[in-house]
Amino acid sequence: MAPWKIHGQEHLTATLDRGLHQGQLAHAYLLVGPPHVGKDTLALQLAQAVNCLGEDPPCGQCTQCRRIERGIHPDVQRIAPTQDERTGRLHTEIRIDQVRAIERATAMQPYEGRYRVFIFDGAERLSLDAANALLKTLEEPPAHVLLLLTTVEEEALLSTIRSRCQRLELRPLPEDRLVAVLTEEHGVTTEDARLLARVSGGNVGWAVSAVANPKLLDERQRRLETLLSVVDGGLERRFQYAQELAQQFGRDRGAVREELGFWLLWWRDLLVLMQQAPDLVVNVDWRQTLEDRARRFQSGEVAIVVRELVATLERLEQNANPRMTLDVLMLTLPAPKPVPARQEMA
Ligand SMILES: [Zn+2]
Repeated sequence: MAPWKIHGQEHLTATLDRGLHQGQLAHAYLLVGPPHVGKDTLALQLAQAVNCLGEDPPCGQCTQCRRIERGIHPDVQRIAPTQDERTGRLHTEIRIDQVRAIERATAMQPYEGRYRVFIFDGAERLSLDAANALLKTLEEPPAHVLLLLTTVEEEALLSTIRSRCQRLELRPLPEDRLVAVLTEEHGVTTEDARLLARVSGGNVGWAVSAVANPKLLDERQRRLETLLSVVDGGLERRFQYAQELAQQFGRDRGAVREELGFWLLWWRDLLVLMQQAPDLVVNVDWRQTLEDRARRFQSGEVAIVVRELVATLERLEQNANPRMTLDVLMLTLPAPKPVPARQEMA
């Protein structure tokens, strides 16, 4: 086994190992999977593997591997939306001039490695022009070029782009394995590791960065508190929230997708509590609030919200009007019943 440093993706690294040893790697790969599942990690290690000087690539130790890991290798380049020179704001798309620059760069021999590797970070953000320009490079890339496209939104890519890449689908790590990684490699207590494993949905990257950066957990806490204020609030609060979220969607689609992901888990938690399956609750630290709300909704109402959340995420991906879509979602939220009167002891 080659020393890939990525958890839970053995189904992919085994195939890549064979390709490496038989000299039969594809020239373009599409790395597909939810946020923080390890797409960037795998892309970087693939860049190492094709340039590695060790016997068992990616060794992680040789000068090539190290320089790539530190992000200072001249033959490995990341492509993401850039900042606007005048306004300083981040563009929402990867633009055609960026792709044209890559096209010119592919014609040049590698400076110091064997391969020039181009990693398109969030390929769903390619503008239509940029995607069409990239097609040409994908059709017949020079032999020393490896193109890696990562995406959370495979359906948003042109089918012609998808068909020219070999697809690598990354899977979230099963809970027990993630708990083991967190306790054994990151010194987290078992209790904290269980919470992180649940909350992250098996996404190692998120869980590990939450260990290093407690702000991520604070951020989650803030999001769940907002959610509760919207669920408990009246229509005015709900529409205000829809407006805020729609505005945010214009700037940062990923953040809105993540927020709705938290919503989906929360409502799903209510449903599993109602179905007497408390072991399946994800937000274990919110158990009491969840149990309280579970008594104040009907399971049919909750099931509708879960379905509507999934539909909302799909509509937003298909470029529906965000404000209208989110307003509709708010209208499907049921009003919580008043707290049931306590039964008096006889
Ligand atoms: Zn190496």
